[in-house]
Amino acid sequence: MPVDFDLWRELLQVFPIIFTIEAGRYLITAGLFSLIIWAFWRGHYAARKIQTRTAAREDYRREVLASLRTAFIFSVTGFSMYYAHWAGWLTIYEDFSVKGPIYFAITLIAMIIAQDAYFYWTHRAMHHPRLFRAFHHTHHKSKTPTPWTAYAFDAPEAIVMVAFVPLWAALVPMHDLAIFSFVTWQVVRNVMGHAGVELYPVSGKPSRLFGWWNTTTHHDLHHQNGRSNYGLYFSWWDRLMGTEHPDYQAEVAAFAICPLRRKTPVRASGAAATLIALACAASLAMHGDAYAQTSSPIAGHWATRGFGSIVQLRPCASAPDTICGRIIWLWEPNDAQGRPRTDNHNPDRALRTRSLIGVDIVQNLRETAPGVWSNGSLYNPDDGRTYTGAISLRNGVLELRGCALSVFCQTQVWRRPEDVLQSVRSLPQ
Ligand SMILES: [Zn+2]
Ligand SMILES: [Zn+2]
Repeated sequence: MPVDFDLWRELLQVFPIIFTIEAGRYLITAGLFSLIIWAFWRGHYAARKIQTRTAAREDYRREVLASLRTAFIFSVTGFSMYYAHWAGWLTIYEDFSVKGPIYFAITLIAMIIAQDAYFYWTHRAMHHPRLFRAFHHTHHKSKTPTPWTAYAFDAPEAIVMVAFVPLWAALVPMHDLAIFSFVTWQVVRNVMGHAGVELYPVSGKPSRLFGWWNTTTHHDLHHQNGRSNYGLYFSWWDRLMGTEHPDYQAEVAAFAICPLRRKTPVRASGAAATLIALACAASLAMHGDAYAQTSSPIAGHWATRGFGSIVQLRPCASAPDTICGRIIWLWEPNDAQGRPRTDNHNPDRALRTRSLIGVDIVQNLRETAPGVWSNGSLYNPDDGRTYTGAISLRNGVLELRGCALSVFCQTQVWRRPEDVLQSVRSLPQ
């Protein structure tokens, strides 16, 4: 060791600072998210609680203690990196002007993507029966994660997790602030992934833009069954390796589309809220087996408001126990210029030129109660908006109700074309 690195002096002076930063980062982030969830519980997060089970006081105690041990192990690594940096073994640089902002951003993003891959594969390895008990047992004692679960690792797992940082920093020249940003990012995402309530914005169907971004529900499902959803920040490894939980998309979408789950009354008592959550969970669990075999009473042709179009409802090709519907006929098939009408309000520019005839406007509605189909989406080509919707069949008439953002709701009535024609025929001549 070089003579001017006084190990004991540095240990006494620098190590406490590093430990304070590591433990503080965990305590502040977990505390902050706990506070946010608590503050907005009644108005927002009660309806977004992922599990009906609640973590016990003992769970919190174990999680905080194990996390502080992890923070200690991280600090030992941090101190080792401090020495390695001083000795010139790492490629960390401090002068921002050396490589500039673009290099800074690219290396930070690359580090995050690389750690996501590192995490996926080391995490899967730790689930091997021979490794699980020594490496990953403590983390999975948390069946119902809380923000405090974030660092609740066995010591060997903490070592595997933190080893990525010096390995990467030995290979890729990183600005010290980029390393700091990376560590902050990982603790924030870790805490958010264990929050126990869905923190991310979700919609009623898999997001085309953000489907690769793991929600809180993604990792919560991993804690519930431990055999799927191994990924940390992004979903691509789970998708590539076929380890995504089969109900993941439906579980996420349920926060947006399940009317009971969404409308948990603000003033509901705890028991009522639990009943509502249970009723909703049951309706979600009812993956339509009972209805898959029977032809649906709403299948067939329906005339939309004012006979503007005819929609054909039928079992969806991808999920035959759900109902889809597409436009098959238009009262006015051409626009003012005489050209066939297109889906010109679609938010996706690439779809604006497609013919309106053939567009799927009803997607994946499930019969959740006799005569009621919900948990799906309704697309309105008039405004290009997709509504979370429900359909009910009453006296041979279909009532559609769709809401965007749970606020802008529209109701429409559809009728069987033959019923309309029948009443036209009975008009006085
Ligand atoms: Zn976890
Ligand atoms: Zn695991």
